[in-house]
Amino acid sequence: MNAPVFDNSYATLPPRMYAQVDAAGSPKPKLIALNRPLARRLGLDPDWLAGEQGLAMLSGNDLPPGAASIAQAYAGHQFGHLSPQLGDGRALMIGEVVAPDGKRFDLQLKGAGRTPFSRQGDGKSWLGPVLREYLDSEFMAAMGVPTTRALAAVATGEQVHRETTLPGGIMTRVAASHIRVGTFEYFGIRGDIEATRALVDHVVARHYRDARSPLELLERVIAAQASLIARWMALGFVHGVMNTDNMAISGETIDYGPAAFMDGYHPDTVFSSIDRHGRYAWAEQPHVAIWNLAQFASCLIPLMGADEEKAVEDATRAVHGFPDLYQAAWMQNFCAKIGLQPSDSAKAFIDRLLDLMAAERADFTRVFAGLASGEARDEFMARDAFDAWYGDWQKAKPDPELMAKTNPVRIPRNHRVEEAIQAAIVDDFAPFHKLDEALHSPFENRPEWDDLAIAPLESERVTRTFCGT
Ligand code: AMP
Ligand code: MG
Repeated sequence: MNAPVFDNSYATLPPRMYAQVDAAGSPKPKLIALNRPLARRLGLDPDWLAGEQGLAMLSGNDLPPGAASIAQAYAGHQFGHLSPQLGDGRALMIGEVVAPDGKRFDLQLKGAGRTPFSRQGDGKSWLGPVLREYLDSEFMAAMGVPTTRALAAVATGEQVHRETTLPGGIMTRVAASHIRVGTFEYFGIRGDIEATRALVDHVVARHYRDARSPLELLERVIAAQASLIARWMALGFVHGVMNTDNMAISGETIDYGPAAFMDGYHPDTVFSSIDRHGRYAWAEQPHVAIWNLAQFASCLIPLMGADEEKAVEDATRAVHGFPDLYQAAWMQNFCAKIGLQPSDSAKAFIDRLLDLMAAERADFTRVFAGLASGEARDEFMARDAFDAWYGDWQKAKPDPELMAKTNPVRIPRNHRVEEAIQAAIVDDFAPFHKLDEALHSPFENRPEWDDLAIAPLESERVTRTFCGT
């Protein structure tokens, strides 16, 4: 049984980039879930994590020697408005580990208590957001989408006060790094070029080794985001709070807060209760990504050479490269969903199908998963229109194998996630564990999982989600 060996690089950066903090600790911690395969992938000992010392770490009660215990500083544009000081308000970085394959990961306790960045918040999380992020992020990983991951979920044994009193939880989040567009903004808006340079060097060494200049770093991040957002779109994923502080430089999906997957398809779909104007609706996500990346670009301009005009020009050109990169990734993803190679005619099939789906909010996941077998027809009321599309599409000879490995039969449906959370509140974790296991095998059909693939009835539909703060 071995404790983790930490190798903390972020904590060697200038001290103004973070704050040293102690975790608040948990009065009566209980391990809800431990992600053993992920532990092994990271080179961590799952048995140690499941034991007394492991629980002490995962609950913030006692960190092992070598742990870092820092809260990272960051800023961010929230719904378009600049907040100069956000930072890890309810998260604590306990350190970095280097996996057997040489990849470096952050371990972070989300919900571990107050930090200098907490403002009015309590630094805690209740179990709901912990379980939601656990399920959503692990499903993303199972689909091969870049994402932060969930190593563990712990019930703290403490009550957290929101609109009501709810059981507290801590999620141990694993990320390639937690550096955000907002991290760069924090130093950018302060004109702190030294810190920005340190951050650029850190990020290049960690994520983009082949980037030889800040401009190349910008181009890499833009490409990573274009590919990421296209993957979200192909799963009907709505992030919900694409503020610049919730966009990771590594290209991983981060901060699931009110995130949700669509049931019935409509491009305007929004779940987050605070997104009143649909700024972060499904179809807006690529546009928001460009906006966020432009903020990132502005932070890098001071490092892009003495000729500022040229730097602005280069940065602008890079940001304007997003639509083409995104479009190519979108084509790749959506053409695979209908079993075709990218082409103009394949695009026309997708557009026509999405229009049919939007007209009656046909179930996004079930339509695509049912195309190969023809069962998708059952998802439509306008059968004639669907049949006409289907007949034309069949003539293009779609590849059923390509579709089978692209379209999941199961997603973390909102009503199921909500059901697992409600059960957890009364100490029943069976629905959570069942969902967790099923979502780790999103392409596999098993009779005991059939209910998880069914779309919600009108009465079961969950259309609102909350940040959980
Ligand atoms: P979010 O948009 O949910 O990722 O959070 C925005 C900011 O609010 C971040 O700086 C968080 O650390 C902070 N925050 C959210 N919830 C809490 C909380 N319960 N206590 C302290 N800070 C919080
Ligand atoms: Mg956040």
